[in-house]
Amino acid sequence: MATAHPQPASVVVAGAGIVGSAAAYFLARRGLTVTVLDALAPAAEASGAADGAVSVASKRPGPLMRAALQGIALYRRLAGLDPDPETGLQGDDAPLAGLFHPRSTFIVAASPAERAVLEAHAAALAQAGVAVAAIEPPAIKARFPALSAAACLVIEVRGDGHAIGYQVVRQLLAAARVPVLRGCPVTRLDIDAAGGRIRAVETPRGRIAADAFVFATGNGTAPLFGLQAVLTPRKGQLLITERDLALSRAMPGSIMSGRYLLSKGSQTRALDAGGEQASISAARGFGLVVDPLRTGQFLIGGTREDHGDKRETDLAAVSRILSDAVALVPGLAGVRLLRGFAGARTAVRDGLPLVGPLPGLANGFLATGFEGDGICLGPVTGAALADLVCGTAPALDLAPFAPSRFAELQAAA
Ligand SMILES: Cc1cc2nc3c(=O)[nH]c(=O)nc-3n(C[C@H](O)[C@H](O)[C@H](O)COP(=O)(O)OP(=O)(O)OC[C@H]3O[C@@H](n4cnc5c(N)ncnc54)[C@H](O)[C@@H]3O)c2cc1C
Repeated sequence: MATAHPQPASVVVAGAGIVGSAAAYFLARRGLTVTVLDALAPAAEASGAADGAVSVASKRPGPLMRAALQGIALYRRLAGLDPDPETGLQGDDAPLAGLFHPRSTFIVAASPAERAVLEAHAAALAQAGVAVAAIEPPAIKARFPALSAAACLVIEVRGDGHAIGYQVVRQLLAAARVPVLRGCPVTRLDIDAAGGRIRAVETPRGRIAADAFVFATGNGTAPLFGLQAVLTPRKGQLLITERDLALSRAMPGSIMSGRYLLSKGSQTRALDAGGEQASISAARGFGLVVDPLRTGQFLIGGTREDHGDKRETDLAAVSRILSDAVALVPGLAGVRLLRGFAGARTAVRDGLPLVGPLPGLANGFLATGFEGDGICLGPVTGAALADLVCGTAPALDLAPFAPSRFAELQAAA
């Protein structure tokens, strides 16, 4: 039977992606002795192969949208842009200063079907309290000069931002000042079944004991907890171009095609409205995002492919992404592609992440399955994990994300 253990002194955080790094940061701030271990290295998986949209724009209405709003608010505080509500101090403890950049996201409809999806989505965002503004032709040209004349409706989502995942990971771990064991995968859990507790994790470097354990192991979670039927690696291909400062100045924020909402399932009921074009896209999950980076380069993506082989980008996907991008931002035709890369998100069968206590194990906590939202949700999830470990109520409502909703979950003891 699980027994409570309210005051742990030591904690092992398995997984040094953005979620594990944020958990380590908040746990270290509370004075716990934290050891981080990673099968590979910090940000070696999804957190180092992502676009960095810290954004509510594409979130499905409900718990993910609410979590994203809290996630953005926390980024603002960690970047020193807003005061801490508890202390009233601003910039006093700001590990992400200079790494989080506020900006709008512009969702663009270029067909009547996309327009219908976008109108429904904008209404949902407004209902959740997000500041949105509709821009129609001819105002589109003045507000967003880089966009094609095909754009028939643009929704500006205000209050979003951008942060590069691997920079956030590096900074949170540096601020946490905790040891990070690289090349150190958890292979098994040593469980005291009678006491309902984890005694230690086993790794090729030996057994590591602690009072509490956080598993933020991304796509490595399924074999550890029997979640192969629940978690799916979802590959995404992304492209980076050379710099074009003039074009960058003609883009006041990142753009997302209406079709991206479909590829992400943000407006599932509107899927049928996408017609033939949407179903062709759904086959490989093409959904366009064009992000003007602070360097003057453009990050363009991407795909959603249900497998985890991220060793290659393929010509068919790259050409399709580029032609979609040029159709929406014609100026990109004159900008050279520098490189392409791929990463694998962790998708969950029901579309919501798994964050919370491990059933039956009083000192074990899980956080995975953030699909395309983990850069946005990483810090707020890390803060919630620190609360859980320390026995305090998290500000984030974790009820919809409870790992216990999946009966398959069992630890690899
Ligand atoms: C192409 C692409 C674009 C994206 N764009 C965005 C975006 O714009 N905005 C956004 O919010 N999100 C985006 N995401 C999603 C985001 O990157 C992920 O949701 C987030 O990085 C997940 O973080 P994580 O810490 O849960 O997992 P990961 O970053 O995958 O980290 C898990 C870590 O656990 C380690 N590990 C695995 N197994 C074990 C084990 N047994 N023992 C120890 N360690 C282990 C791994 O080595 C890895 O370092 C994108 C993702 C991709 C792939």
